[in-house]
Amino acid sequence: MIYRKLGRTGVDIGIIGMGTEYLNGLPPEDFLSIVSKAIEYGVNYIDIFFAHPEFRDKIGAALKGKRDKVIIAGHLGSAARKDGQYYKTRDPEITEGYYLDFLKRLDMEYADIIMLHNVDEEKEYEEVMDSALKIAQKFQKEGKARFIGMSAHRPKVATKAIESGIVDVLMYPVNFTTDAMPGRKELLSKCSSNGVGLVAMKPYAGGKLLQKGSIHLEHYQSGWESMKKDLPNVISPIQCLSYTLSQIGVCTAIPGVKNISELDAALHYLEAADEEKDFSSVIKDFAEYTAGECVYCNHCLPCPSKIDIGQTMRLLDLAQHAMSDEILALYEELDTKASDCVECGSCVKRCPFEVDVIPKMKEAVELFGD
Ligand code: SF4
Ligand code: SF4
Repeated sequence: MIYRKLGRTGVDIGIIGMGTEYLNGLPPEDFLSIVSKAIEYGVNYIDIFFAHPEFRDKIGAALKGKRDKVIIAGHLGSAARKDGQYYKTRDPEITEGYYLDFLKRLDMEYADIIMLHNVDEEKEYEEVMDSALKIAQKFQKEGKARFIGMSAHRPKVATKAIESGIVDVLMYPVNFTTDAMPGRKELLSKCSSNGVGLVAMKPYAGGKLLQKGSIHLEHYQSGWESMKKDLPNVISPIQCLSYTLSQIGVCTAIPGVKNISELDAALHYLEAADEEKDFSSVIKDFAEYTAGECVYCNHCLPCPSKIDIGQTMRLLDLAQHAMSDEILALYEELDTKASDCVECGSCVKRCPFEVDVIPKMKEAVELFGD
């Protein structure tokens, strides 16, 4: 592993870190094998934002006896409904309760980073500074957190947070698709000059960069198969990681992995040849920023119809490029379908990537017939 300083925290973190959201729903033995292998190979930065009790129990069990080997980021404001849907809360009591539950279920005295979770709107930023920040500072004083971070998706609010001097760590999406996002390059430079540790989330844009079919058609063409085949015009995980880790200020990239082969694909970066890391043929396709592309993160939940919006959008993107029996079967497995959308619009307001969800649901109904 190669280590970089996490900004002014002074903590050394591996350049390949780990997001954990795709572990949700896997059996405990998969949590254990994936987390153990990651740590064995020197991964020490692990982000844990899901608040679902069984998810927390499983990740807690997988981390048992390994606390001294990892830097853990826990989130303040991430919550889970009884029906299993994620939601974001700013209610002080609920926020505090979920954080204490996090420490209890992971059997930890403290998180290394307490993340003010998912802050994108200016009004929301003010609210968070008034309330969640105070909770974070209280936990910090009590020894239940070491450093304060913020997860965000938009340059304006993220820049404000950095300039405030309050956050030590910023978690922000850094991948090809955001290369030309207005304000992003300035934001990254500011992290560097202000000593804010930058944790790059979504290095594969939620997997979109590795799919067949694409936003930028020429190069989004392969998926994990690109690891095995010598196809022209494909983007590999190594190129994605190489791009992300080359961006100013980035301390670690945290791909979400859901099995050992995805973990191996990320770890392969550490031994990849320079030719594999070369992304010069790819970057030209991202000279223009395209807003409104779904990265399947489900930050737009809850949905009153309990639609798994992220997975529905992922299957729609895949099917629009090339429908297959496998995609159809995965769609069939969904408990609720795009046709259940009542067009309430609440997801559209919550999506940090400006995705116009309702027309997409209509496209999915047309394509999948439900
Ligand atoms: S619509 Fe937006 S919030 Fe919802 S899954 Fe897609 S990118 Fe994430
Ligand atoms: S607009 Fe449709 S998909 Fe979005 S939250 Fe409302 S019902 Fe769910």
